[in-house]
Amino acid sequence: MKETFEQKKKRAAKILQRLKREYGTNIGPFVNFNTPLELVMGTILSAQCTDERVNMVTKELFTKYKTAADYKNASLAELERIIRPTGFYRQKARSLKETGRIIDEVFGGKVPCSVDDLLTLRGVSYKTAHLIMAKVCGKNTGIAVDTHVDRLSRRLGLSYAKDPVKKSKELATLYPPAEYLNVNEYFIMHGRAVCKARTPQCAQCVLADLCPSAHTN
Ligand code: SF4
Repeated sequence: MKETFEQKKKRAAKILQRLKREYGTNIGPFVNFNTPLELVMGTILSAQCTDERVNMVTKELFTKYKTAADYKNASLAELERIIRPTGFYRQKARSLKETGRIIDEVFGGKVPCSVDDLLTLRGVSYKTAHLIMAKVCGKNTGIAVDTHVDRLSRRLGLSYAKDPVKKSKELATLYPPAEYLNVNEYFIMHGRAVCKARTPQCAQCVLADLCPSAHTN
């Protein structure tokens, strides 16, 4: 029998509850940051790159560049040298510089707390905008869908949407806003540890009885 929306919502809640019990509060690593600007720049670098690698690179980057104007005035070659290990470094260096310019000139040097404004920054995607809103603005505006959230929500039968924005909106109907960041972080944890892209370890998975894809991958 097809699962009703209410049944799916209850299952979604149980999934998150189990993951919280499994991983507790000791979650991460995620992109390290001490200021809103550092989170913006770190998440730009995290495209197609692990958070560990981003954190290695930002040790030097964040020591040298502290304000939006610092990035605006930076030498592209120097930015490229520092961030090279994160991949796509030419494109990312231009994004850092241009985002620094926009924050400095348009937003008075402060990271804006609005999804629409964040989306005007170069290299800031729909996913990144919602992460920044949750982590530095304290507002739960949407669920950030990265590769792990995408894969797990499909395998778990929570959303089969291919477009990440559509998927984010579908997932958001299943959870209260206060859980949006938790969905992102706990799904990432489980995707890294158990529900891996190539070899999901269903036999060890705490979600197996809640997952329509258990043992079928
Ligand atoms: S049961 Fe298997 S496919 Fe389902 S969430 Fe767990 S590891 Fe992933």
